[in-house]
Amino acid sequence: MAGTMDDIRQTDPDIYDLIKQEERRQFDKIRLIASENYVSSAVLQATGSVLTNKYSEGYPGRRYYEGQQIIDQVERLAIERAIDLFDAEHVNVQPYSGSPANLAVYLAFLKPGDTILGMALPHGGHLTHGAAVSISGRYFQAEHYTLSRETGLIDYQQILEKARQCRPKIIIAGHSAYPRILDFEKFREIADEVGALLLVDMAHFAGLVAGGAHPSPVPWADVVTTTTHKSLRGPRGAIIMCKREYGAAIDKAVFPGIQGGPHNNTTAAMAVAFREAATPEFADYAGQIVKNARALAETLCKRGFDLITGGTDNHLLLVDLTNKKVTGKQAARALDMAGLVVNYNAVPFDKRKPGNPSGIRIGTSAVTTRGFKEAEMFQVGEWINAVVSEPENERLITEIGADVAAFCKAFPPPGIA
Ligand SMILES: *Cc1c(COP(=O)(O)O)cnc(C)c1O
Repeated sequence: MAGTMDDIRQTDPDIYDLIKQEERRQFDKIRLIASENYVSSAVLQATGSVLTNKYSEGYPGRRYYEGQQIIDQVERLAIERAIDLFDAEHVNVQPYSGSPANLAVYLAFLKPGDTILGMALPHGGHLTHGAAVSISGRYFQAEHYTLSRETGLIDYQQILEKARQCRPKIIIAGHSAYPRILDFEKFREIADEVGALLLVDMAHFAGLVAGGAHPSPVPWADVVTTTTHKSLRGPRGAIIMCKREYGAAIDKAVFPGIQGGPHNNTTAAMAVAFREAATPEFADYAGQIVKNARALAETLCKRGFDLITGGTDNHLLLVDLTNKKVTGKQAARALDMAGLVVNYNAVPFDKRKPGNPSGIRIGTSAVTTRGFKEAEMFQVGEWINAVVSEPENERLITEIGADVAAFCKAFPPPGIA
């Protein structure tokens, strides 16, 4: 961990013990959940700093409390670095996380009952893109586009037709489980044709954009939201980028629209992460994430796995396990016991229920941070194949679990001593 943990051990041995156990888990297991990562020690330290003690409702130079001499500088630095990193016109760094960031965008531009058009949840969209259980689906008229049944790819013609029919105020591009690059220019054309705003939610692939391994939506979108804790490898939080003309509306929607005081410790940690993400090393990192995903895809394809769209262009793979005679949940359970942590996930047009769908999602952001390259991904693919082929074989799973833990020793992640 960043710094010693002596004080927690003294004050609260229960939580100390749990943190230590989680540290162990993060060290010993191969973490393949596509939304997760390992932050640097520097990011951890900023997150755990005294900036957590300060209230600062408002924006730099326009606060509702005194004592902002330092905090204003922290937030300005975070904003400037985000602007430079993504070539954005305006950035708000205060959203507590990705979901509030999207909600703030809706508050800025919509009235209850207005129409939004986003990717359907079971096709890789996010809850906040209009799912029925989310405020985005309850307070707004949410319409959805789906993937092509034949190819598993985004069907831009279908989006255009839906947009013409439902005339959305906002079209949302972005996903949590789509393994291919998005065509932002096409989304822009569709939005222009129907007079909609284009919101790109790049939560999953922001790190690839920062590192030049995925095209940037920033030139095309009116508004771009992203979490900072996924492939971007920062603290848990989110930012909103937008064209200058929307800056005031976005800022007002974040505060006082849906939030109170920003989490200044997080803002500082974001600034650190943006600095790290602007380095050549991070560009190499982003490129390696994609190479690793491709290497894993290649191994799994060879072993007869059915990958949605047949492969990947980004940091994630979506695997349909129907032909392997195992459900997503069964596979994810067995893999976790073997030290390979993935999540079960619906596949497009899934015949099974979301609680135990047909697929698993696999991401390479975290393992790439700890130094895995193609050779390691081939090994990971072989382990996945072995476990999924015999998910009930406890002896095999225990053996692989031990092999995985031994293997991980050579790849210490940052932030864990
Ligand atoms: C993860 C994610 C979010 C939400 O982020 P939280 O920080 O979990 O609220 C929003 N949009 C997309 C596309 C995501 O993948």
